[in-house]
Amino acid sequence: MKSVIFIAPPAAGKGTISQKLIDLGYMHISTGDMLREEISKKSKLGLEIEDIMAKGNLVSDEIVFELIKNKLNNLKSSFILDGFPRTINQAQMLDKLLNELKIDNYEVIYLDINLEEAMHRALGRLSCEKCGAGYNKYYDQMKPKVDNICDKCGSNLIGRSDDNEESFKVRFETFVKNNAPIKEFYESKNKLHMIDATKGSEKTTEEVKEILND
Ligand code: AMP
Repeated sequence: MKSVIFIAPPAAGKGTISQKLIDLGYMHISTGDMLREEISKKSKLGLEIEDIMAKGNLVSDEIVFELIKNKLNNLKSSFILDGFPRTINQAQMLDKLLNELKIDNYEVIYLDINLEEAMHRALGRLSCEKCGAGYNKYYDQMKPKVDNICDKCGSNLIGRSDDNEESFKVRFETFVKNNAPIKEFYESKNKLHMIDATKGSEKTTEEVKEILND
């Protein structure tokens, strides 16, 4: 199966769709998850980036590239890149690394969603503090059975500190500001596929699988 790079505004569903693909044997590389882990470990890096992330701003290209470089250098299966690249500089750094590793069997999928719908999703988003399972209090099919309790392991559900209105707007606008050259870059390499990400996660996952099986 082909690897996949998701480029998408926040709350377009990258994480949800990635979870549905993991069972197929993919290695899931989420820069947001890796950075949040550094924050929860209170590592030196975590302390450095906590405030930047809470405000919805981007962490430096060098820091994030170092994280994904370690993962890609140790690949044992096809990969899902979730949240990287987010700047044209990151796209170029990634391209160079993939060339060095002789990896070309991948597609780039753009999950398209407007600000209003993405904001609604983000403000309802919850995840289990223990097992990481994702929920959404605004969508019947994604609500937990008991408010704020994980269906899978019974632990508490929590929201992300950057899923508030102010940070979310910054994150969405940052995406829009940086995305045009990234999109052009992958278009010129004939790698880019656009998907309407507002039709629900099942339909979107189906469309993603069709592209990756092609
Ligand atoms: P995500 O979980 O993908 O929504 O990412 C959460 C936050 O992590 C972003 O708002 C950024 O602060 C930071 N982040 C994740 N990926 C990157 C990246 N590729 N470049 C810079 N910052 C990133």
